[in-house]
Amino acid sequence: MNASIIAIANQKGGVGKTTTTANLGVGLAQAGKKVLLVDCDPQASLTISLGYSQPDTLPSTLSDLMEKILTDEAIMQGEGILHHDEGVDLIPASLELSGMEVSLVNTMCRETVLRQVLDTVRKDYDYILIDCMPSLGMLTVNSLAAANSVIVPVQAQYLPVKGLEQLLRTLNRVKQQLNPKLRINGILMTMVDTRTNYAKETSALLRDTYGSRIKVFSVDIPHSVRAAEISAEGKSIFSHDPKGKVATAYRALTQEVIKVEKQRKAYQANIDR
Ligand code: ATP
Ligand code: MG
Repeated sequence: MNASIIAIANQKGGVGKTTTTANLGVGLAQAGKKVLLVDCDPQASLTISLGYSQPDTLPSTLSDLMEKILTDEAIMQGEGILHHDEGVDLIPASLELSGMEVSLVNTMCRETVLRQVLDTVRKDYDYILIDCMPSLGMLTVNSLAAANSVIVPVQAQYLPVKGLEQLLRTLNRVKQQLNPKLRINGILMTMVDTRTNYAKETSALLRDTYGSRIKVFSVDIPHSVRAAEISAEGKSIFSHDPKGKVATAYRALTQEVIKVEKQRKAYQANIDR
């Protein structure tokens, strides 16, 4: 195996990055894939939403693994990896990660520390999903440098064009300087209120503006209190409300991601030949 590494990124806060990482991850696991989730946000929302409510008491987190790369220590097989009962593995985060972000600034190869961590586990998984923090700082650059693909969740409620342009500039810079194979595998509309026309208009506008350059996933994630409830439950939408519209949407997203990744891999193999 050589995992597809997907960063879930948008510097705008509260757009559904963490919710998408958790539910796409469990969706992929239910589709029979081996999945590792990586919490790359010092807020540790992904870690907490998977039921580890006290991240600061965990014996090993992402920042410890990154520290090992910085100090040239070996990472042991399975070190720092938690196993969630819905079939996904997790490298958790804690507040320590914000200290790591600060110390990265003065490090050699500072943009590729996370890539080096993931290189040690990549062969064990089909998919590695990285939940990014809401900024374009050094941790997010590390995530983008480690990834093959990026999914950009966008909240349908209002038009984020300015923020998107800034994100696309960062993605292009990372692509040119650190990671030429990086692809934006899609903009994902989240928290779509299907009862209003506004979401439909935003969605149409996004497709008009970016559709020729960037894929916009054909599935939208609907807004639902069911989705908001799960972060406190420590489980995915698939066990909280398996028949609901959000579970249905994340199931469809899972299939779309599998398809897009297959195409990306075939395309890449063609170039590499
Ligand atoms: P941050 O930038 O702070 O990391 P984020 O982009 O990771 O935020 P989430 O934490 O996934 O965003 O979601 C923000 C809030 O919206 C959370 O309270 C979450 O429970 C809620 N939420 C996510 N998806 C939905 C949805 N489809 N319907 C309703 N609420 C949702
Ligand atoms: Mg988050």
